[in-house]
Amino acid sequence: MIPVNLPLLNGKEKEFLDKCIETGWISSDGPFVSEFERKFGNFIGTNHGIAVCNGTAALETALFAAGVEKGNEVIMPSFTIISCALAAIRLGAVPVLVDAEPDTWNMDVSQIEFRITSKTKAIMAVHIYGHPVDMDPLLVIAKKHNLVVVEDAAEVHGAEYKGRKCGSIGDISAWSFYANKIITTGEGGMVLTSNAKMAERASSYRNLCFRPEKRFYHTQLGYNFRMTNMQAAIGLAQMERIEEFIQIKRRLGEYYRKGLMDIKGIKVQEEKDWAKMVYWMYCIELDDQLGLDADIVMAELKKKGIGTRPFFLGLHVQPALHDLGLFKNEHYPVTERISRLGLYLPSGMALKEKEIDEVVEALKCVITDKANV
Ligand SMILES: *Cc1c(COP(=O)(O)O)cnc(C)c1O
Repeated sequence: MIPVNLPLLNGKEKEFLDKCIETGWISSDGPFVSEFERKFGNFIGTNHGIAVCNGTAALETALFAAGVEKGNEVIMPSFTIISCALAAIRLGAVPVLVDAEPDTWNMDVSQIEFRITSKTKAIMAVHIYGHPVDMDPLLVIAKKHNLVVVEDAAEVHGAEYKGRKCGSIGDISAWSFYANKIITTGEGGMVLTSNAKMAERASSYRNLCFRPEKRFYHTQLGYNFRMTNMQAAIGLAQMERIEEFIQIKRRLGEYYRKGLMDIKGIKVQEEKDWAKMVYWMYCIELDDQLGLDADIVMAELKKKGIGTRPFFLGLHVQPALHDLGLFKNEHYPVTERISRLGLYLPSGMALKEKEIDEVVEALKCVITDKANV
């Protein structure tokens, strides 16, 4: 079985973890946490890092830090993980959607302005599957309407937009270090910003909104979203190889792209000339003409020992969100199409070119056998 994804770990993680055990620093109160915050922040190019327990918590913390509150609206893509909507909802704000664009599958920035109202507070730019959102026009809109820009950068560690690293472009960004991300801490996340005030708010929210001047006295409701020293130990070990990981991802991504090029009826995420993508996942979209939905192809690939995953479903089709009265009767045609026709192929960094050849060959066979053309 070629697995869909596994992290690359080596001896360093163990060495740093041993230090946690030897010294007794296993909670969030250990020295690796701030070192990881500093290192990752430096790598992306922001002044402040606030490590948290996962990416979903990072999104909520970032929105809180950006000043999103009850009654506000947050514009975000329909094609994303539910964490984005949850972050807004938990703060009493309302997620407002725009569709995906067909070539990068990122939010269609040209639709944002139509969704702005007097209640809009923020735009959440979610960089999808390793490819940056077209940030410049988004920033122009944000500036014109005085909105904060929050980047969900959970899938783009090291990706660049016009030479700037994703996660350093908006006001604040949220990261995940879940086991399938480009670097991992098992579970974990971070908020990055160069805005000192937002950093302070994020740091407070993560830790129960304790007040520095008077402990155990609270004027706001926070959470315990802290990252442990053990998670940060793994993160620091991963940071030593992050450049190498990005190179591996790009090399395998290019190799896939070449292999998939001559299969008719398959589309891959287009790397725009202003983008450096990191191929978080190696994704394909099937042409509707094939008459094959992704779930059929995935089942056939599974029979051949190849692990895959489906694309996101739109936020607007989630029953849990309909129950809140959200998105009823809304339609986002690109999102609906790619949710039905998109999947990702084995994407681990330990993949060998030979295995990619095998995946491409298997995909070719499935399409030849099953497609109605
Ligand atoms: C993984 C991911 C998240 C959530 O991160 P967790 O650490 O799993 O909570 C949020 N947004 C995007 C785009 C992601 O890919």
